[in-house]
Amino acid sequence: MSKHVVIIGAGVAGVNAATKLVDNNFDGKITIIDMGKDPYRRPYEEVMTGYLGAGGWSDGKLTYSTQIGGQLSKYVGEDKAMELMKQVVDNFTRFHPYPEQIILSHPTEEPEFIKPYFGLRLFPVWHIGTDYLHEIGKSWYDYLVNKGVVFHWETKVTAIDFDDSSVFYVNAQNTRLLKYDKLIFGVGKSGIDFTSNIMEQYELPTEEKPAQIGVRFEAPQKHFQKLIDIAYDFKLYRKFDDEGVSLRSFCTNNNAAYVAVEETYGDHSYNGHAKKDEAFRNDMTNFGILMEVKGIKEPFKWARELVNKVQENSTGLFYSPTREPSTTSEGIDVSATKIENLDVVKDAFQGYYKYIEDFIDDMKKVFPTLKDDWGIYVPEVKYLAPEPLVKYEDLSLTKYPDVHFVGDALSARGISVSGAHGTLVAEQILSMDKAVNDFLNDPANNKEPHEMGDMHEYIQGGLTMPKENTNKLNK
Ligand SMILES: Cc1cc2nc3c(=O)[nH]c(=O)nc-3n(C[C@H](O)[C@H](O)[C@H](O)COP(=O)(O)OP(=O)(O)OC[C@H]3O[C@@H](n4cnc5c(N)ncnc54)[C@H](O)[C@@H]3O)c2cc1C
Repeated sequence: MSKHVVIIGAGVAGVNAATKLVDNNFDGKITIIDMGKDPYRRPYEEVMTGYLGAGGWSDGKLTYSTQIGGQLSKYVGEDKAMELMKQVVDNFTRFHPYPEQIILSHPTEEPEFIKPYFGLRLFPVWHIGTDYLHEIGKSWYDYLVNKGVVFHWETKVTAIDFDDSSVFYVNAQNTRLLKYDKLIFGVGKSGIDFTSNIMEQYELPTEEKPAQIGVRFEAPQKHFQKLIDIAYDFKLYRKFDDEGVSLRSFCTNNNAAYVAVEETYGDHSYNGHAKKDEAFRNDMTNFGILMEVKGIKEPFKWARELVNKVQENSTGLFYSPTREPSTTSEGIDVSATKIENLDVVKDAFQGYYKYIEDFIDDMKKVFPTLKDDWGIYVPEVKYLAPEPLVKYEDLSLTKYPDVHFVGDALSARGISVSGAHGTLVAEQILSMDKAVNDFLNDPANNKEPHEMGDMHEYIQGGLTMPKENTNKLNK
């Protein structure tokens, strides 16, 4: 029985997992540990940590597609993946103070004017907006607290003993050890170092991933309005199959759109978000131009070295033929060192920058008013760190069946897919507990503990209970 579920990371994945459990009257204890702050105290500059994690200060675009953002359909199939992501969208809607203000963008046809140069991915995206995410966060948090979920804020997990089912954490007061029956590991991008250390320490088998690297492009929105009217978060893409390179625009922000700095491995990279409040309107658009390169040896290491080469004065770079770097939504300059030419960038990208240059040149053809009225923040990066091998049905480590990896710590890159990971794991915990309860409550199974090896055969109906767990129960 899962008496104590410990969740590391109150991010999108962890919060959706806890919600699924309490919505279904899970009768064990749920503890969530996060190194950030609760939604009432989390300041805007803490982009990556605290309630809802990176998702809590993101743009709140809830994409509803398995074409982008991770491997969910590989794990559970297309239909189940879509169903899980819908549950996440429903949670954001449920805790929204004004759900009618959520905007749905759902392009159904590629517009003619982009066709000669780009393809456009077609799928629904709900847009929440950064400011509403905070309000959603507060009521969602209150709901979980009222349901008995225990949160430890400003508390960092520093080590995990998988063999002894315990986590070690530190906060201002003390260092503690906490035992778990089930561990949900959802530390997101801000916990990427910790994830790598754990994977190394336990020699977890992994799947290598291609590199995804590029720039964050920013321009006045008017140049792109024709396409934004069709798709808020437009995904322009192109492929060079022979060269193993594909590019896409990624995470478009509009209206009140700001570039945001991310910090990973001590280096700066860029992302973006948009606010809903008209007071923040700046009529700008920003999006990533991300390139996936196949065939790179050790892609993770390659991407890390590249990112490190495009740092100057302890921050990333800004280049524009005509513009200055923008400010954040709080009126502070976006941290970036302005460069006068792209030599250092081209050098760091080792020949691959030409694809981004082509992408921008072709955008100038498709959006003729754009000309030189744009800037780029370098780099934008999706660290597709080698992914630990998990059992697909419940995302548990192949070596440790009570430990479940979720969200960006596994393979997700996005809110709906990360939340869906958490939901999937919670569903599996619930159904395993139900199966065990059914077994124990069935008089026909009124056996001595040593006879309970029958349990595995007893439990049917789509649920696969790991043999290891059954053995633990028999002890
Ligand atoms: C600026 C920005 C904008 C974005 N916009 C979008 C968007 O519009 N749409 C979209 O789909 N995606 C967006 N994303 C990506 C999305 O936010 C993430 O994919 C998603 O939040 C990942 O969820 P997660 O639960 O895996 O991790 P996170 O949400 O990042 O949560 C991880 C949590 O773990 C905690 N943590 C980490 N290490 C430890 C530790 N050792 N001990 C204790 N706690 C720890 C952190 O404090 C954090 O709260 C954006 C990201 C950023 C940074």
